Amino acid sequence: MVVKVAVIGGGPTGLVTGIALARRGHDVVAVDRDPGPPLDGGPWARRGVMQFHHAHAFRPQVGEVLRAEAPAAWDAWLTLGAEPVELAVGGGRVVPGAVRSRRETFERAVRAAALEQPGLEVRLGHVDGVTTRGCRARGVRIDGSDVEADLVIDASGRSGRVNRHLRAPGTGGECGIAYVDRVYRLRPGVATPPMTNAIAWQGTYAGYLVIVFLHEKGVFSALIIRATADRALVALRHTRAFEAAAAAIPGLRAWTDPDVAEAVTDVLPGGPLLNVYRGQRGPSGELALPGLVFVGDSVCTTTPNFGRGLTTSLMQVGELLCLVDVHGSDVEAIGEELDAWDEASMRPWVEDHVSMDHALARRWAGDDIDLSARLPSDVIMMAAAQDPAIGQALGPYLAMQALPSSLGEVEELARTVYRAGWRPPPDPGPSRDELADVVAAAVPA
Ligand SMILES: Cc1cc2nc3c(=O)[nH]c(=O)nc-3n(C[C@H](O)[C@H](O)[C@H](O)COP(=O)(O)OP(=O)(O)OC[C@H]3O[C@@H](n4cnc5c(N)ncnc54)[C@H](O)[C@@H]3O)c2cc1C
Repeated sequence: MVVKVAVIGGGPTGLVTGIALARRGHDVVAVDRDPGPPLDGGPWARRGVMQFHHAHAFRPQVGEVLRAEAPAAWDAWLTLGAEPVELAVGGGRVVPGAVRSRRETFERAVRAAALEQPGLEVRLGHVDGVTTRGCRARGVRIDGSDVEADLVIDASGRSGRVNRHLRAPGTGGECGIAYVDRVYRLRPGVATPPMTNAIAWQGTYAGYLVIVFLHEKGVFSALIIRATADRALVALRHTRAFEAAAAAIPGLRAWTDPDVAEAVTDVLPGGPLLNVYRGQRGPSGELALPGLVFVGDSVCTTTPNFGRGLTTSLMQVGELLCLVDVHGSDVEAIGEELDAWDEASMRPWVEDHVSMDHALARRWAGDDIDLSARLPSDVIMMAAAQDPAIGQALGPYLAMQALPSSLGEVEELARTVYRAGWRPPPDPGPSRDELADVVAAAVPA
């Protein structure tokens, strides 16, 4: 049977869901307050999605879902320059289909496919609320006008507020780390500098992290990641400070040296980074509203340095599509089963990041690794440098084919490594205090 569906939000989650449901014959309207990219090909401001201009890495699952559910979006993405690559995930395992691309390139492709998809209307507007009949959702109100729907899908992202009052409070919160990044382009003919894997180079220092994400056509983003509480490094948002820091960190200088690359944006300060999980339920423990389901970042948001957000979002889309296939317009069954799946398959990723980020902030503040508590996943992974048996077990977790609990089998091996006194050595470069001096010299207070 045809289900009439209203989707709140035309970001990646909303539009891929909309395309996939329309391809199944359902009647879908997806509503977003953003007008989309200018027709003249000019820059797309995309206000309201803080991360739009920031670095994104694309794991293989993103391409897998597109090829299965929105093949026109995959084709458009390749046409716009997306570069599929093979990704090594530890223990000698390689997974195909990670993609080098800017987020803007990805969203342009998804949006172009959505606009061409029969059965899907992409509507410009602000969703003011969900309308109800009896105790269930019956549609949405868009700028004062009602649109009826059998199923309302909230894909309004991590900042979506429209249905927040219906939901139980989320678990998690601000993750305690912050970053700035800047987009560059490799100069013609210059060899790509060293990389940690096919999509990124990462440097680990005493008190901060640096990551370079390579996008398409030699464009890349350089990120410097610090503790939110580290006020001395806030000034990295100033161009002079960022450039001085980039020149002082050897691994980053290899990418950003003016002979190697030219900057194509100013320094982009990021907004607050979150680790938050919210399921399908309201404060009473019942479904927030039968007929209304939540997907994407509105359910699960994680610190971006592992590049997991689009994968968790599109995994949810895949699950929701299966449930609609099975249950049709039985919206209570869809909501209940989606919530059970979210609890089992999404909550653990948020908890994984909460554990890693809290421990990282403590280490950056000078604490040693706490061997009396459960080891965070990144600490287990780092120990693979000393014990190859740990590396053998990392692949499924790194590829997000197994939950974080899968690392439990090698946790004791990692503990043994740390009990013997080994600690991950920082990469060559300034310590956090030395970097703070570099920043202060570039931008005097
Ligand atoms: C700094 C940063 C870096 C990231 N890097 C990565 C990465 O490297 N790899 C990765 O996989 N993920 C990354 N992520 C996560 C990724 O960006 C998100 O997972 C992704 O944006 C989720 O898509 P979404 O469609 O669920 O939400 P969004 O992209 O937030 O889209 C929500 C949409 O809903 C619309 N909307 C909201 N409310 C309303 C309303 N009332 N009416 C109409 N429209 C509305 C908004 O305009 C928006 O278009 C990063 C996140 C951040 C914050």
